[in-house]
Formats: sequence, structure tokens, C-alpha cells
Amino acid sequence: MNIDIIGAGIGGLTTAIALEQKGIKTRIFEQTEQIKPVGAGIILANNAMQVYEKLGLRKVIEENGNPISSMNITKSNLKPLSKIDLAYFEQKHNTKNIAIHRGTLQKILIDKLKLTKINLDHKLTSIVENTNGYSLEFENGERIQSSTVLGADGLNSVVRQNLFPNNSIRNANQICWRGITEYKLSAKFKNELNEAWGKSERFGFVQIAENKVYWYALKTFKKDKDVFSINDLDKYFSNYDSIIKNIIKSTKNEYIHTAEISDLKPTNVWFKENVCLIGDSAHATTPNMGQGACQAIEDAFVLSECIDKYEINKAFTEYQKLRLPKAHQVVKASWLVGKMAHLKNPILIGLRNQMLRLTPTSINRKQNGQIFQLAEI
Ligand SMILES: Cc1cc2nc3c(=O)[nH]c(=O)nc-3n(C[C@H](O)[C@H](O)[C@H](O)COP(=O)(O)OP(=O)(O)OC[C@H]3O[C@@H](n4cnc5c(N)ncnc54)[C@H](O)[C@@H]3O)c2cc1C
Repeated sequence: MNIDIIGAGIGGLTTAIALEQKGIKTRIFEQTEQIKPVGAGIILANNAMQVYEKLGLRKVIEENGNPISSMNITKSNLKPLSKIDLAYFEQKHNTKNIAIHRGTLQKILIDKLKLTKINLDHKLTSIVENTNGYSLEFENGERIQSSTVLGADGLNSVVRQNLFPNNSIRNANQICWRGITEYKLSAKFKNELNEAWGKSERFGFVQIAENKVYWYALKTFKKDKDVFSINDLDKYFSNYDSIIKNIIKSTKNEYIHTAEISDLKPTNVWFKENVCLIGDSAHATTPNMGQGACQAIEDAFVLSECIDKYEINKAFTEYQKLRLPKAHQVVKASWLVGKMAHLKNPILIGLRNQMLRLTPTSINRKQNGQIFQLAEI
């Protein structure tokens, strides 16, 4: 069987690796002319690392990233509000949570592919069903025939827009800055992700390599009304802890990326005949749970197992059955967390902080336990 994958993001690359290891031939078509390292970090949570363990990638990712043993929500002065101790899950699943540079992860994934060709400069413009399968048209003028297609082309997926038109992208009204800086965190912060919540904004930071810190900052944002600038980041976070202010000050403007935050309103149809959606194209989420890529990586694992086990339509049916409830749980929870994190009213902020402080470890552990558990196939 030959499978064509549209998109060489984390979802498409991981799926190609998983399918290759099952002896299935794949081709990837990627819109960019050159795969450039993405200048940001990423946290690969325990569920993603369990998949990478199965694909023989855990060790190389661990060696190139930094282990994270707790995830903390704090006030703007870094006083703790809630702490998720990840050591429990590390022991349970025998895998760590790893913070890593996205460019490094991308290279590790590309290097792992042995047989799959990544066709660059292939921006899909249309996919049309015909008697022999699907006709794929690319912006460079090329047209190919395909029997089976996986849409791993992200939030604005052309595959989804062409074949699954009943879906909508939601703008979360939050602007996000992501940066990488040469910075030495003190030993206390070395293996922690800290996210400081203020009033309508928040700031997260984590070490991703020796003396390299990845940070992200979000602020409530009304399009056509608010105008923000990276030159004023220090002002937006002027009442935050001095570590945060120093991290901002130490980052060069060219290493800061700005984006608006959106997700895909949960949709119940991920496949049709011989076309199936994976990763953000199926279930893009806001980044508030740090699970978007992890869910794409889980898709890769579950889908490759299903394709190995069943004929293609049964494989897609089983994949959707196994993956959709959890992916939607993440999308919904993440949307809610985003709203909670950006409260403006001081009374509601006080109540929220009290609730975070009082939530028992057992509840936090249960919620994360569900997220970190892989589906059984
Ligand atoms: C601020 C922020 C922080 C995040 N932090 C985390 C985190 O810590 N942990 C985590 O797990 N997730 C995180 N995420 C989410 C994560 O980045 C995404 O969920 C993940 O990248 C999705 O992977 P994907 O392969 O499905 O899609 P994408 O990464 O969007 O990749 C899609 C690929 O398809 C290509 N493509 C698009 N259209 C076409 C076309 N028409 N033809 C050909 N190719 C095409 C694109 O160029 C791209 O290479 C974060 C997201 C944001 C915005």
C-alpha cells in the first residue's frame, strides 16, 4: 500500500516514521521550499514520549532536550498556585517529559526517515476524488494521482477545507509571543516549567538545553482594536518577577515570533473513503495544555497500528473511535484553561487562585493520568 501525507510537521513526520516501521510506503508533500528550523521550544509530555519510545526515538530526544519533572502555575511574582509533580508519571510509564528546541526535534524526526521522500515546494491547492482515488494538485503545477491520503497540513488544512467543509476555526482573542534566549536559569528552575498568571496575560518559561531558555507569553487581544509590539513586552510584564523581566530583556527581537491563538471547533468527521485527517488538521487546540503536538504524535501511533491491523476503511474508523474523544477532551479543557488564565476581574482572579491552591494532588494526578495514558489497540 502507498500512502501520501500532506504536511511535514510533527504530525506528518511522526506518522511517516510509524508507517515506515510497519513496512508501509509513504510520500510526504510539504509546501515550504526548505525545512527551516522553527525558532521555538516545545514540551513533549509523557504520552508523546511513550510513542517515541515505541518508535526508537526516546533516547535521542532525551539526549537533546531537558527533562521536566514538574509543571507549575504561579502568580506573577512566581509564588506557586499549583504544582503537577511529573515524577509519578515518569515512574509509571518509564518515560520523562522533555522540553526541546523545535528545530532539534524536527531534525531528529527527518533523520529517522529512511525510505520516505519529503517532496518540498509542494503546496497542495486542491484534492478531488475520482474513479481511481484522488487527484492532488500543487501550486508548482504538478498533479499526482493518489490512492490514500493523510491530511497532516495543520490548522488551515487544504485537505479538510476541500473534503470536510463543515468546520470552523475559532479565534481565542489571545496574542502569543514565543522566544528563545541564551540564559542561565538557577538550579531550582532547571527541571521545571513555570507559567505565571497575571491579569489578562501570562508568561511561561522552561530550560530546553544548557543555557537555553524557551519562553512564551500571551495577552488578551482584540483584533482591529489592540495594537501590541514586541518592543513593549517589558512594559506588558513590568509587574512580573525579575527573572521574567530578565528573560525578556535578554531575548533578541529576531528570536521572537508573534501569532494569534486559534483552534478548530471540535468536529466529528475525520475521514471519508480513503482520506483521513491527523494532528492539527483534525483537532487543532489552543496551546494551554501543551498537548497539540502530543496529540498529533498519539494520532501517528494509533493510526499506524490500525492501518497495520485492518483494511483501510476499518483502520480509519477504529482510529477515529480511539482518538476522537481524548483529542476533543484536550481541545475543550484547553479552551477553558485559556479563559481562566486570562481573567481580568480581581474577585474572580482571587477565587480562581484559591481554587488552584486547594485542588488536591489526587485530582490533578487523575486528570493528567488520563492525558498521559495511550489508547490500547
Ligand atoms: C504558542 C504555541 C505553543 C505550543 N506548545 C506546544 C507544546 O509545548 N507541546 C505540544 O504538544 N504542542 C504545542 N503546541 C501545538 C503544536 O505546535 C501543534 O499542535 C503541532 O505543531 C501540530 O502538528 P501538525 O503536524 O499537526 O501541524 P503543523 O505543525 O501545523 O504542520 C503542518 C505542516 O503542513 C504544511 N502544510 C500546510 N498546508 C500545506 C499545504 N497546502 N500543502 C503542503 N503542505 C502544507 C506546513 O508547512 C507544515 O509543515 C503549541 C502551539 C502553539 C501555537
